[in-house]
Amino acid sequence: MLDAPALTTDEAVECAVRVYGVTASGSLLPSERDQNVLLQTDAGERFVLKIANASESRALLEAQNAALAHVARRSSLCQSVIPTIDGASIAEVTSAGVTYLMRLFTWLPGSPLAETPAPSIDLLEDLGSRLAELDGALDGFDHPAVHRAFHWDLARGFDIVRESSPLIADAALRALVVSVADRVAARDGERLARLRRAVVHNDPNDYNVLVRPSAEGTAAIVGLLDFGDIVYSYRAADLAIAIAYAVLDKADPLATAEAIVRGYARTRGVDDDEAASLYALVLLRLCMSTSIAAHQQAQRPGDPYLSVSQAAIARTLPRLASLDRDAVDAALRAARGRTVQDTLAARRRVVGPSLSIAYRDPIKIVRGWMQYLYDDAGRRYLDAYNNVPHVGHSHPRVVRAAAEQLLVLNTNTRYLHDVLPTFAERLVATLPPPLRVCYFVNSGSEANELALRLARAHTRRRNVVVLDAAYHGNTTTLIDISPYKFNGPGGEGAPPWVHVLPLPDTYRGTYRRDDPRAGEKYAELARYAPNPGAFIAESAPSVGGQLVLPDRYLASVYAIVRAAGGVCIADEVQTAYGRMGTHFYAFEAQHVVPDIVVLGKPIGNGYPLGAVVTRPEIAASFDNGMEFFSTFGGSTVSCAVGLAVLDVVQEERVQEHARAVGGALLRRLRDAVGGHPLVGDIRGSGLFLGVELVRDRETLEPAAAEASDVVNRMRERGVLLGTDGPLHNVIKIRPPMPFNEEDAACLVEVLAETLASVRRT
Ligand code: PMP
Repeated sequence: MLDAPALTTDEAVECAVRVYGVTASGSLLPSERDQNVLLQTDAGERFVLKIANASESRALLEAQNAALAHVARRSSLCQSVIPTIDGASIAEVTSAGVTYLMRLFTWLPGSPLAETPAPSIDLLEDLGSRLAELDGALDGFDHPAVHRAFHWDLARGFDIVRESSPLIADAALRALVVSVADRVAARDGERLARLRRAVVHNDPNDYNVLVRPSAEGTAAIVGLLDFGDIVYSYRAADLAIAIAYAVLDKADPLATAEAIVRGYARTRGVDDDEAASLYALVLLRLCMSTSIAAHQQAQRPGDPYLSVSQAAIARTLPRLASLDRDAVDAALRAARGRTVQDTLAARRRVVGPSLSIAYRDPIKIVRGWMQYLYDDAGRRYLDAYNNVPHVGHSHPRVVRAAAEQLLVLNTNTRYLHDVLPTFAERLVATLPPPLRVCYFVNSGSEANELALRLARAHTRRRNVVVLDAAYHGNTTTLIDISPYKFNGPGGEGAPPWVHVLPLPDTYRGTYRRDDPRAGEKYAELARYAPNPGAFIAESAPSVGGQLVLPDRYLASVYAIVRAAGGVCIADEVQTAYGRMGTHFYAFEAQHVVPDIVVLGKPIGNGYPLGAVVTRPEIAASFDNGMEFFSTFGGSTVSCAVGLAVLDVVQEERVQEHARAVGGALLRRLRDAVGGHPLVGDIRGSGLFLGVELVRDRETLEPAAAEASDVVNRMRERGVLLGTDGPLHNVIKIRPPMPFNEEDAACLVEVLAETLASVRRT
């Protein structure tokens, strides 16, 4: 290996100005094989100029830069690369006749974890969590240069120890390293060979982990440095390597390791093979470190860098090697937390039995990212079911908006704050006039409750007209207007003030798609509803079976109900914000303007947020002297979240995306499964789709058990869907909006294969 570059500080400072336009003073930072220069501007800004060893490959530096950029999308733990004046992420500098590759990085504050001699259990758990964050942020990253033969790759550990351990000078240590590595090979070799692989940082040693003491005195991990060892290796490598360094010279190495695993497993899965291999990987890494150091010492005698960890390893390895492996493995397995079965049992003990759990084989989800969910073993699922995380699970803009507002203020609507009227202005601007007055609550149910109160205050009538199979929420009154509940198990039927209209289902209802006047004909039935105060319906019934209403249905019902003195409520809890593709709200596709619009699920992207928007006259009727107040409704944080979601919905043009991807998905579904005998109907709009299964295409006998079977088998294959509809035979497809064409192709492929093998019950 060539010597590390040795620019003078003056040379480095001159380079910074010429190449990056950064005027700063410089000072040297330690580095093993590169040269690192800390640059500080007069304004107090800090950068690190990193001049790579001349033996470094450009491709590897490009891979590191790309990895940093990939990580930065999901985490702020790592440095960013600052481009040159010309926009390049890698520059060249020549010194003493040698040309080096050079990069400029942002500076991360904090001090190395190595300088915290007795880290608290909390800090170690935080280390685990941050590592999981880093590894999670690396998910999906790849680059040809990281598939390399690298001596620090744990997956090559046995070879490295075999080649270099003979150079370990201390005979006792040499014998120990060889015997530990041999034992690991014998006990764990087979399992290690089948461990999952991924791109890993590969060197979260305690000098690369930065700690900042917080104001309250509890320290926190704030940074992870140095992607120089990045490699495609064991997915569990970062966790094992961090443990390997964190346990050195610790009084209780097992408690240290357990804390790190505990923190890690909170957000990132560790599967059984990985848990059983962690300690083996810790031992192997330490054996590798000693062997590699001996090898390098032979080449560069007297280099102090090479012995940084060696004394501590020599002191600690004998203790680590003497621990009972079965006990250690069991402890680390337990540190991952409860198993799915434990969680299920605990939940059954302490949570009301009427809550349901999806799938016959329940999933324990620990993390979400955009259209994907990850279980406790780190398995990724394509989420084609959840419409609440509209712009994606954990969308960073939304998360940041919530976190930043929480840090400053979260209070109620009785104080003035700009975020409330700003959000309300933005929200009403998405709706047609005269829908101009907002109320904010905490759920779809609360919003529907309030909508009913508004309607009753305005019309002074109690009667409500609803669609069959509808669900509008979980409160006492909403159960009374939800046929899905009052006609379902445990229900007590419709109260006298509720009038139920048949679902305008043109696949299996009285009037079908071949009837161009089906919409009006279904609507006519509204004339039989006595003294309607309100008509409430989803503008595209979801629980009703992912129906798209026939043309002119809502316009005709609205006309009838209004003529009879009622007002019309559009429950857009599932359909708002562009999901339908053709329009921002589903009622727009029906060419109507409701009197009251109810919003929920997607508008908070998972943060509890509901809204009701109405006409000024209805708001005036409701303003009868009784205050309306919701402690959390319209809170500062919820409005900040609502605003961020709306920003993302508009900037990322999710409606157009839903139209394009949903259209392609519908075509693919029709091509791939439209001819399957179980598939009766494929319908929907945008990313609001349904596949209705029937046992007989003539009688339309519903295939509910088959639909449930398909959904369960698809879950086993990593695709999450659900069933719905009054007959429970409709497969529901309504993914988070980042769902793309690739996901659509995957969903259709898995559905087609699953249908091909489905049992007929
Ligand atoms: N309306 C509709 C159409 C819904 O689908 C739901 C929830 N599934 C609600 C209202 C109730 O919303 P929440 O669960 O947020 O109270």
